[in-house]
Amino acid sequence: MENIYVTKPFMPPLEEYIEEIKEIWENKQLTNGGQKHQKLEQELKRYLGVENITLFSNGHTALEGTLRAFNLTGEVITTPFTFASTTSAIVRCGLKPVFCDVESERYTIDADKIEALITPRTSAIVPVHVYGNVCDVEKIEQIAKKHNLKVIYDGAHAFGVKIGEKGIAQYGDATIFSFHATKIFSTGEGGAVVCRDSRYKEILEKQKNFGIGREGTVDLWGGNAKMSEFHAAYGLCALRHMEEAFAERKRVCETYMRYLAGKEGITIPSQREGATCNYAYFPVVFDGVQYTCEDVLTRLRAEGINARRYFYPLTSEFSCWEKREGEANTPVAKYVSERVLCLPFYPELSDADTERICRVVLKK
Ligand SMILES: *Cc1c(COP(=O)(O)O)cnc(C)c1O
Repeated sequence: MENIYVTKPFMPPLEEYIEEIKEIWENKQLTNGGQKHQKLEQELKRYLGVENITLFSNGHTALEGTLRAFNLTGEVITTPFTFASTTSAIVRCGLKPVFCDVESERYTIDADKIEALITPRTSAIVPVHVYGNVCDVEKIEQIAKKHNLKVIYDGAHAFGVKIGEKGIAQYGDATIFSFHATKIFSTGEGGAVVCRDSRYKEILEKQKNFGIGREGTVDLWGGNAKMSEFHAAYGLCALRHMEEAFAERKRVCETYMRYLAGKEGITIPSQREGATCNYAYFPVVFDGVQYTCEDVLTRLRAEGINARRYFYPLTSEFSCWEKREGEANTPVAKYVSERVLCLPFYPELSDADTERICRVVLKK
């Protein structure tokens, strides 16, 4: 039997991409905000229901560019239950991450525990909509207002999620997205920042282009994090097929739920009330008694099925911290991190394969 990977990109038809890039050959503009880039920004603004969006070369440069654009200093309250990128961006921008624990049902930052971590040095909150589960955006906004803090969401997992009719990127001062090959909307490599205040869009545009402003003057030290025309063209094609991709993901999710929901020893995180699901990942938490992560992983591997310990360890436990500097008191995050597996999840995954994965998971 064929190996099953943890993820596989949903690709638009090749002919469509070839058609899309013909113009690039005609006008010979390969990057620096060409036609494809402008068009993708327009389409994404519409899709996400936002005013200001800036494309980036990837989600990580988008996050670092944003932290710099907002001129943050001192401490930033964030979650250790995330991909390396979130914490790494904070540290690389010279900021100190202060780790807050997560909610036990959705694994997003526990807003009730944020205020106790605020000090005179705190400048921002960087929550993560982990697995596409939305944070408690209302409570976070209240806290940020009260203490005059910026809120920068790592929305790398949350493309397309809405709360009621409101797109997820309408919350906070800024939200970053990743368009990496493993994310549900992809440009191969790519990312974007949505910001509430258009002045930050201007700064972000300089951040990603050596600090060069519209007049050609340089008034900040920028880097290079522009999205090329080829990536933007791919994104335009991929965006046209999002509904098909969502429908397939929904089917796979429902098959998993049929076999795994309500099984003793297995927890599947719940969605926040009123929020839509974007079917980005299928995380399962094993209780460590009936099932352990290690045993399930071993059983799956023996059958050529790849699951992923996403996220383990916590970013606060990375070996790059000197002298236990990263240490955090986040027992819920630690509990989840030690027990969670992301099962294979992508549009092409057949019902038969999904059922087979569930059988292997449940076979003790
Ligand atoms: C993927 C990801 C990123 C980084 O995005 P890239 O496009 O890969 O640079 C940041 N944060 C989270 C939570 C991610 O999953």
